[in-house]
Amino acid sequence: MTSVQPGGFIAVDIGGTSIKGIAVDDGGRVLRRLDLDTPVGGAAVLERLGDLIETLEVTLEADGLMLARLGVACPGLVDGRSGVVRFASNLDWRDLELQRWLTARFGVPAVVENDARAGVVAEHAWAGADGADDLAFVPVGTGVAAAYYLDGALARGATDAAGEFGHLRAVADGELCTCGNRGCVEVYTSAANILTRYRRGGGQAESTPEIVRTLDDDPLARRVWGEAVDALALGLASLVTLLDPSRIVIGGGLSRAGDALLTPLRRRFGAELPWREHPPIDRSGLASHSTLVGAALLGWGLGADDSRSAVRRLGTQLELQERVTRS
Ligand SMILES: [Zn+2]
Repeated sequence: MTSVQPGGFIAVDIGGTSIKGIAVDDGGRVLRRLDLDTPVGGAAVLERLGDLIETLEVTLEADGLMLARLGVACPGLVDGRSGVVRFASNLDWRDLELQRWLTARFGVPAVVENDARAGVVAEHAWAGADGADDLAFVPVGTGVAAAYYLDGALARGATDAAGEFGHLRAVADGELCTCGNRGCVEVYTSAANILTRYRRGGGQAESTPEIVRTLDDDPLARRVWGEAVDALALGLASLVTLLDPSRIVIGGGLSRAGDALLTPLRRRFGAELPWREHPPIDRSGLASHSTLVGAALLGWGLGADDSRSAVRRLGTQLELQERVTRS
């Protein structure tokens, strides 16, 4: 009889600026986290993804674990059923059979999903039975997106494009967006664009958190932040009008602004929907880790009950590591 080696898995969140990966054992212990810069060019991104997984696989093996599964999340139009990335502009990927490539290279089953949808999988598990059947998750970071559970099912849309919330138009004849339209939510609300707009107005901050810290004394910061909140509130009001979620969860880096974001956002959002009750807007319990945790859950392949405790375990470990890194 051959002995069965205990297994582990690797989860990866591929972003436009960095590729984040974790090696996890089957008990949900994060053995190692590794972040690499995202290079320019589709082939280079794929090569770096392979390198990152290979390095994490070595970590698993050093702990006597065999890589059993992979979960990978990336931005853009992703068919989560076939694991094909149809289009990811900032990774320079088009019609890439990523799932097939991963399985061929590493010899294990792989799950590939859109990043916001991976995030909502984690948020859905976090919420558990508590009103998660109609849940909207809105990550706000370098970009702005959304993903939903509707009637208890993950919504993808006919072309896997459900959730391009960042390109909902919030300002008529507003500023130009990378998508070619004007006045999109993302132009005003993404953390990257908040910083760009603030600096264009003559501000000196180096980061969006720095802008948030000066809101009390800096009229320019207040104006740019107010426009970000307005655009997000208008977008959320449209989202609620169309989809009627029971709750909205804000994630991504900008959610770390806490009440500086949520207090004006709730006020503005409520004013946009005078004709109906509006769902609560909360901050993600996973801070900016929803996508990576979601990729882990997808790779892990747990049932609903196990996912609920796993999501807390993974989220806590990642946030502790983040605080150590930041301090
Ligand atoms: Zn746009």
